[in-house]
Amino acid sequence: AGLDPADFHREFREAYIQRHKVPEHIINDIFIRMHMTAESQRRVDCRNCGYNTCREMAEAVAKGYSRIEDCSRYVTDEFRRKLFFDGETGLLTSQGFMGEGMRLMRSEPGKKYIACACNINGIKTINDLYNFNVGTQVIVYVARVLSGMTGRGGLCARLGGDNFAMLIENIPENISRLTALRFFDCSRMGINMPVSARFGFCEATAINELPRLINYASLAMERSRERSKNSFTWYDEKMREAIMTESAITSEMRSAMANREFVMYLQPQYNHSTGELVGAETLCRWIKPDGSVISPGVFIPIFEKNGFIRELDRFMWESAFRQVRSWIDNGEKPVPVSVNISRVSLINDDIITFISALKEKYRFDTKYVHFEITESAYTSEQNELIRRISAIRDMGFEIAMDDFGSGYSSLNTLKDIPIDILKLDMGFLRGGTNVEKGGNIIGSVIRMAHSLDLLTVAEGVETMEQADFLKSLGCDIIQGFLYARPMPVTQYDELIRNSSCGAVHLAPTKTKLDLNRFFDQNSGETKMFDNYIGPAAMFEYSADGIEVLRVNSQYIKMLGFEGRSAMEFSNSFGDYMADEDRADFAEAIQRARRGENGVLFIYRYRRPDGSAIVVRSRLWYLGSTGEREVIYVTGDDVTDMLALLSEKGL
Ligand code: C2E
Ligand code: CA
Ligand code: CA
Repeated sequence: AGLDPADFHREFREAYIQRHKVPEHIINDIFIRMHMTAESQRRVDCRNCGYNTCREMAEAVAKGYSRIEDCSRYVTDEFRRKLFFDGETGLLTSQGFMGEGMRLMRSEPGKKYIACACNINGIKTINDLYNFNVGTQVIVYVARVLSGMTGRGGLCARLGGDNFAMLIENIPENISRLTALRFFDCSRMGINMPVSARFGFCEATAINELPRLINYASLAMERSRERSKNSFTWYDEKMREAIMTESAITSEMRSAMANREFVMYLQPQYNHSTGELVGAETLCRWIKPDGSVISPGVFIPIFEKNGFIRELDRFMWESAFRQVRSWIDNGEKPVPVSVNISRVSLINDDIITFISALKEKYRFDTKYVHFEITESAYTSEQNELIRRISAIRDMGFEIAMDDFGSGYSSLNTLKDIPIDILKLDMGFLRGGTNVEKGGNIIGSVIRMAHSLDLLTVAEGVETMEQADFLKSLGCDIIQGFLYARPMPVTQYDELIRNSSCGAVHLAPTKTKLDLNRFFDQNSGETKMFDNYIGPAAMFEYSADGIEVLRVNSQYIKMLGFEGRSAMEFSNSFGDYMADEDRADFAEAIQRARRGENGVLFIYRYRRPDGSAIVVRSRLWYLGSTGEREVIYVTGDDVTDMLALLSEKGL
């Protein structure tokens, strides 16, 4: 209101010209903004702006005739500035960084530098969950933090998008300042989750071309799988080799497939109790024309990364199906083969189509092929995976869970996933730092597998001791170097012809105990005994009475002997049992002796402190050593249960 439109339509008139002389420093200011620092530049006559010299233009600008932006020299410089500096973050651009960085490294040859690459984790998710502006704010914020971190004499650049690069002086405080950064706090932008980034470092020692250093730093950065907090990965010689191997393998894999360089090997599986051959796992070998063999440990992870594993998996499955068919056609009775499914192969429904086509094409009893899946296959897209696995299982194939117990196995997932077989990897027992703990884990996994009616197969078994230990825990199927290494099909055929073969029984095998081993502190039986979760004891029974041979802590606790000596317990155990129950005990022992397993026996017991309990007990006959009979007893305190039952009038 109150403005005169004429104020906005003012024509330039002579009358507006400032008559006074423009002070020299103003002219100088204008020159500086025009990026002209040398006197010679100011005398340049390019005529692009219509003035005779830059000097004239500066004066015109000072007097208000024109604007500096009309000067083509200024425009060129502005363009260059845009090329070298990122408009959003103010950091150097890629061009600016490479140029400046090279200059810096050359001008300070005495200093050691480190190139660093950095990428924000999940910026696309942030863009998607919030909006693009918030994503940009995050980038600007990270840029600010990073440029504050580069240290004196360092450079920081935004290479584009959410990619950053830094050149920092290789001194401990520069590195530790960066690596102390756990995440970026973006709560001010309304992002209530920690924003993190991956960092890769490459030391400028042998290599000193900056683009190459940054490239190596990003290769290191890309190797990090961590997404929940900042990660810092160093590029080193080993990584270089891994990258070289990876690119060699990637470039050769297709022709290798065409040249039939991938070969199916078989590793037999045995029933340790009977010595029978009961199956085999198919394992892939890459045999080069020169006869050298590449281990799947090298190429499988690369194929999983580049997706080629799907082709290899299909090739291996078909090889296995074809093999079973040929055994049948040759009149041999096959034992099942177990094939691997990579988690990559499970990402869509193609797997179902492919396997059902194999089933249709080769037509034999589905019991001859098992499919192995690794636990990590279950981490994401749980429902879809379960559906696909179920579809394969519904075709009649048994499903094995591979490498169970080696990672952070979530035993809970087992009840949701349709599997028939659990494969335990003994690998983590090797190296021997925590054999005890490993033994315990295996013990509890086998117990749990049995309670879920799963067959357990132990893999990577190298010693008789391990095999015996596993057997004592009820795991009979053994695959490992102890029995045989993976071998070519021809060799396996020969082996099968000279072996007795058996079927795998899905019912968990009954534990058979070797008595003497209970007295060996390191034996598997001892471990099993100590592992049993409930109260358990071993009694010796003879005409003279009952004596306690071994007892676990839960049993001692149940009978109220805690804190008393083992001797006291052993000497007086029988005395506390109610007289009326002793005859029943003797009878239960006789039944167990006749081979009845888990004979039920209930007895009343008066604890040393006078309290009375009722124990429900089960008996197994372990064997005899001369005139002594040895019995294994488990028990639980059912006093409360009985009280409850009578309260309810039952
Ligand atoms: P995996 O499925 O757990 O296979 C068992 C690995 O343990 C095999 O290694 C086998 O040779 C090795 N092994 C068996 N017994 C022993 C033993 O007593 N001691 C030791 N130290 N090792 C033993 P391999 O053949 O090198 O295969 C490594 C992994 O590569 C396999 O682990 C599997 O994950 C993958 N793999 C191999 N072939 C295939 C395949 O055809 N398809 C897919 N998807 N993966 C495969
Ligand atoms: Ca396997
Ligand atoms: Ca395995």
